[in-house]
Amino acid sequence: MPETPEQSAAGRFDTVLIANRGEIAARIQHACRELGLKAVAICSEADREAPYGSTADSFICIGPSSAAKSYLNQDAILLAARLAGAGAIHPGYGFLSENAAFADAVEKAGLIFIGPTASSIATMGDKISAKRAMMTASVPCVPGPDTALPDDPATIGRIALEIGYPVIIKAAGGGGGRGMRVVPKADVLHEAIALTREEARKAFGSPSLYMEKFLEHPRHIEIQVICDDHGNAVWLGHRDCSMQRRHQKVVEEAPAPGIAPDIIQPVGLACVEACLQIGYRGVGTFEFLYEDGAFYFIEMNTRLQVEHPVTEMTSGVDIVQAQIRAAQGHVLDLTQGDVTCEGHSFECRINAEDPETFLPSAGVVTHLALPAEPGIRVDTHIHAGYKVSPYYDSLIAKLIVHAPTRAEAMARMREALAGTEIEGISTNIPFLRALFEDDAFARGETDIHYLEQWLKLRR
Ligand code: ADP
Repeated sequence: MPETPEQSAAGRFDTVLIANRGEIAARIQHACRELGLKAVAICSEADREAPYGSTADSFICIGPSSAAKSYLNQDAILLAARLAGAGAIHPGYGFLSENAAFADAVEKAGLIFIGPTASSIATMGDKISAKRAMMTASVPCVPGPDTALPDDPATIGRIALEIGYPVIIKAAGGGGGRGMRVVPKADVLHEAIALTREEARKAFGSPSLYMEKFLEHPRHIEIQVICDDHGNAVWLGHRDCSMQRRHQKVVEEAPAPGIAPDIIQPVGLACVEACLQIGYRGVGTFEFLYEDGAFYFIEMNTRLQVEHPVTEMTSGVDIVQAQIRAAQGHVLDLTQGDVTCEGHSFECRINAEDPETFLPSAGVVTHLALPAEPGIRVDTHIHAGYKVSPYYDSLIAKLIVHAPTRAEAMARMREALAGTEIEGISTNIPFLRALFEDDAFARGETDIHYLEQWLKLRR
């Protein structure tokens, strides 16, 4: 049988263009290097001095500082890939990582997209079709229809009553914690729909909305999967990402505390089954809400996630390398039986922001000290003298720890935070230090509202 273009390209690329910036650009370059691959870094004008540029095999400026004209500029990225002789593109997270049209354009240009197929991205990128696919694969979902809300107010009212208040209105194309509105009772339903529809139209280019039960005290638990192109898939464990502010994760941990293996096991296996059913390839994350012992699927991220390191620490699997190898067409070199979970890991997202107001803080890092003790890993691209630009996400570093038990991992994170000094800009480190002294957090099993309530009490 003739090989498909994908098969014929399998295993053949030796140069990867990293279509991203910041800590994840550095992280992916490191993985390429360890796999013996050449790495092409790109930058906007604001990132010309990025340290991962000087360690890359080529470094190409693709446009002005605004992300729309650089990291989101598909033509410029494809041109850079051609100029540098890259055979594959790694999209990282954010930017074009979940853009089905980009994945398609990369493959049409004869390159490998290090991620799933454009069609998997499109299915999972629309939260309604994702929910439908998951229901078909018997993955438990949040109560609510797997169809878009109609326009007729009376029908919408009936759907809400059937689900039972409170409900949450969500944009089918939403992401980044935006495009969601909680509706506590019927009299504000129609206003909430109108506002969310308008927001969705503006922010995501589609007014499509859906409704589901608003769970009042859930935890955010997610499952990491990795699949090859040959019908093999495994799940690498679970994470708890309940520490959120404005639906954005701040601290993540693996494994999720207090969840017995026999409860999570069937969910992990259902995720693997869903991957096989949809012909998924590469890495992905199934996100769930967990309340009163039950799991409810909310969405799938079809890319590498910011918090992947905590699972790397507990599973011993280099997720970025595994992802690149899967894109090269290699058969997954581990089976479900090989996957273990050793000890406990935490990650803190260090953001360049005011610890009280959370407003982004740009400027020059005048002094930097990072911890380097055993069991501590720092994923970052910054150094003393680095200029944090106002154009992009405020994430400047990730502090990751690993220890035999959760209590020891918390203690190690306190040490890691104590040993981290960043001057010249404001960061959220003071608030993270205080959080790791909190008793309820130390006991574990805090829900997705805990952090915001804790922040209010501190004021
Ligand atoms: P995004 O794609 O914007 O990250 P998600 O669907 O993953 O959106 O939801 C992000 C967060 O919003 C969740 O982690 C949770 O805190 C909250 N959330 C989403 N759906 C619900 C729900 N049905 N009930 C309660 N909280 C929810």
